[in-house]
Amino acid sequence: PAGRGGVFKVMLLGESGVGKSALAGTFGGLQDDNAHETENTEDTYERHIIVDKEEVTLVVYDIWEQGEAGSWLREHCLQTGDAFLIVFSVTDRRSFSKVPETLLRLRAGRPHHDLPIILVGNKSDLARSREVSLEEGRHLAGMLSCKHIETSAALHHNTRELFEGAVRQIRLRRSRA
Ligand code: GDP
Ligand code: MG
Repeated sequence: PAGRGGVFKVMLLGESGVGKSALAGTFGGLQDDNAHETENTEDTYERHIIVDKEEVTLVVYDIWEQGEAGSWLREHCLQTGDAFLIVFSVTDRRSFSKVPETLLRLRAGRPHHDLPIILVGNKSDLARSREVSLEEGRHLAGMLSCKHIETSAALHHNTRELFEGAVRQIRLRRSRA
């Protein structure tokens, strides 16, 4: 099992309906590479996974919507996450337009940290109702200096890559510290 410091907490942020719970569910469905001690509750998923040959305990929190804007719970999410997935739906431009505000809030709360943040364009399978292009997502991520990925929780497309990417981002920063 991963020792101290080998537990990484990942927070799912974003507007309602973008697929946060669906993404968390795909993570919960991943095979645990070291199945003892696994815990799941309705909104928290813990998995031992191997990324780049090293085991890590990853805990994914889908609790953002349980708090109001500015609430204690949201503040707690922002303060305790080791990495943040800001999810929008590529079929919902409004969810995309909220991203900068969420990200700036996040950085304002942790001004001295270089936080791992991944902008996630979910529902990439819904090509005909797409409202936000891949290029727009990439461009915004570039402007905001964060990573970008498109996923489909429905098809499990890029979902493992998303969570592995979060682990790599956290490790990268810890190795520099
Ligand atoms: P949340 O409010 O952010 O937790 O969003 P949910 O996970 O509850 O998803 C909202 C709706 O979008 C549900 O009906 C999901 O089944 C659907 N959904 C989530 N992700 C995807 C996806 O990648 N593709 C498609 N087609 N539907 C999705
Ligand atoms: Mg949800």
